[in-house]
Amino acid sequence: MSGVGDVKPGSSEPPWQRAGVTYDDWRDWRWQMRARIRNARDLEAWIDPTANEREGIERLSDRFHFVITPYYAALMDPNDPECPIRRQVVPHIAELEDPLGTPDPLDEVAHSPVKNVIRVYPDRIAFCVNNECALYCRFCLRKRMVGDEDWAMKKAELSVALDWIRQTPEIRDVLLTGGDPLVFSDERLEWLLTALRAIPHVEIIRLGTRLPVTLPYRVTDALCALLARHHPIWLNTHFNHPRELTAEAAEACDRLLQAGVPVGNQSVLLGGINDDPATLKELGEGLVKLRVRPYYCYQAQLLEGTAHFRVPIERGVELFRKLRGRTSGFAIPEYVLDTPHGKVPLQYPYLRGREGDDIVVESFDGHLWRERNPL
Ligand SMILES: *Cc1c(COP(=O)(O)O)cnc(C)c1O
Ligand code: SF4
Repeated sequence: MSGVGDVKPGSSEPPWQRAGVTYDDWRDWRWQMRARIRNARDLEAWIDPTANEREGIERLSDRFHFVITPYYAALMDPNDPECPIRRQVVPHIAELEDPLGTPDPLDEVAHSPVKNVIRVYPDRIAFCVNNECALYCRFCLRKRMVGDEDWAMKKAELSVALDWIRQTPEIRDVLLTGGDPLVFSDERLEWLLTALRAIPHVEIIRLGTRLPVTLPYRVTDALCALLARHHPIWLNTHFNHPRELTAEAAEACDRLLQAGVPVGNQSVLLGGINDDPATLKELGEGLVKLRVRPYYCYQAQLLEGTAHFRVPIERGVELFRKLRGRTSGFAIPEYVLDTPHGKVPLQYPYLRGREGDDIVVESFDGHLWRERNPL
């Protein structure tokens, strides 16, 4: 496994030298946040942007934030505009051509009993605790709401949501999302987790965060110790491509696991990035080597500006069918479509039907099997 810290072939300097800082600064998540790439000129330190990328940056800047951590930028292939890292974060004029997309395809606004809470299921909620991520993914569902914010105002708002959770005893599972909850400082996280833990009916707290992928240095020993004080905490992160499985990301996942936090992965099926069986297999197998369990792979939503990432659902089903039986079962995530009524599994129909007293099933390699079905 190679790390960002490795000197790339054809380059004589490690990334922190290219960024003009010490190795310690480079590994400091606060430095990474401050030094984020925000325009074409910053980006030129890492790649030579194509005309399409430059025009994308210029024409899309007022619509969707363009921000990349130096760590993630150092993973980009400077010579390949189709690089799966680059395509996830660098704007492209293709985002301007999308007849189907809408700003809120999941109708989340209508499923919000109180600001920042999305409730689709009776027993669990998504709690959007902030609007900020370490970087912004071009395919993101949440990109409509990102921006800077004032903590005092945010704290008051979060308190209203906490009151709602306190008064809603059915809620046993709270998923902290955003934005990205790990962009919060340790102090803010401590405040939030303490408040949630004080609610007796909240059994588990989950974190949805992309920082182990986009800024793994955020996963410090102090953060892990903090999380361990508020167990049971589960965490799902978001790797989309095997090239994101660096030594640094592995270290971040290992620290979380050592702290007793089960780590899962939710990816998005993205055209030209991971929509082939070999890449999905390598990603799933790479994740389980890190002891990270692939959980969901989402069908990309009909979100505005993302037509160039979408894959037809039938093709997605065939892709996951090709993995079944050909790798460890737990290296395969469940392919799902998120809808305003919850997540729907998209599965090949292995259960073919009933014939008399028998049920007919199809195995991964196409064999039909009849099984006497108990009445
Ligand atoms: C995904 C999601 C959850 C959690 O769903 P699980 O299937 O339990 O992982 C909860 N609430 C909302 C709104 C969600 O989108
Ligand atoms: S990190 Fe997650 S929430 Fe943030 S922009 Fe990327 S996909 Fe969206």
